[in-house]
Amino acid sequence: MFRLSRFMEALRDGGPVPVPRKPAGPVVIWNLIRRCNLNCKHCYSTSTDTDFKGELTTSEALDVLAQLKAAHVPALILSGGEPLLRADLYTIASRAREMGFHLSLSSNGTLLHAAHAARLAASGFDYVGVSLDGMQDTHDRFRRSGDAFRRALAGLRAAHRAGLRVGVRMTLTEENAKELPAVVAFAEAEGIDKFYLSHFNYAGRGRSHRSDDARHTATRAALDWLFDHVWERACQARRRLRHWQQRRRRGLSAALDRATPAAPAGRHAPAPRELGR
Ligand code: SF4
Repeated sequence: MFRLSRFMEALRDGGPVPVPRKPAGPVVIWNLIRRCNLNCKHCYSTSTDTDFKGELTTSEALDVLAQLKAAHVPALILSGGEPLLRADLYTIASRAREMGFHLSLSSNGTLLHAAHAARLAASGFDYVGVSLDGMQDTHDRFRRSGDAFRRALAGLRAAHRAGLRVGVRMTLTEENAKELPAVVAFAEAEGIDKFYLSHFNYAGRGRSHRSDDARHTATRAALDWLFDHVWERACQARRRLRHWQQRRRRGLSAALDRATPAAPAGRHAPAPRELGR
């Protein structure tokens, strides 16, 4: 994963660009369940709202956790299908936390109501990512659901209110590429912590819809826009910091002026460094 904000901040500050810390082992995205309440047209796991054969039992899932620990995996992203449909999600999550895994949830957000958000926070999830593949109409068309956007947004807000770090993930396609600025602006206005841009995966139903993938021109334009936007944000942050530092200096100097007693006639006022002695 390439962290564009950190890269741009390093360039702005004259570098060097920080070298990502080498993780102790691979980060694992674990598709805990194939069932999903949605039926998106680009779903790489061909999920739908039915029980699939061959899912892991709870004890098998806990055994997998032990195997991942033995393989020095430091972080798990619990995904699906829709992981919130897994009845033993919190049992698996609690054990994972006890074993020291860094824990994230990847969800479509539509089932993420306040009670789930509170349990996720209490179970020690570090981060919740929710997919938004465009603004309302585009997202609902992708998700083949009339209210997926509204419910995903409610889920994001519930997770945020519960104190979880939240992120928006967007899979780039030819159709939604032009909405990238709107989705990013929307995420920023919502105070979302992270934005993650993903490529289209040619597996599952994604394979039969691969002609929807963003073509070169749209991908180039989207990435150019993203780089420009993140660069401008980094520069704005520095301008805001400088402005704040100037105001603080001016405020301090005005306060010192007010606190300095008027000098008696014929004598100099005490130097600021003498104040408070
Ligand atoms: S893409 Fe995600 S939300 Fe959509 S059907 Fe597949 S698992 Fe469910």
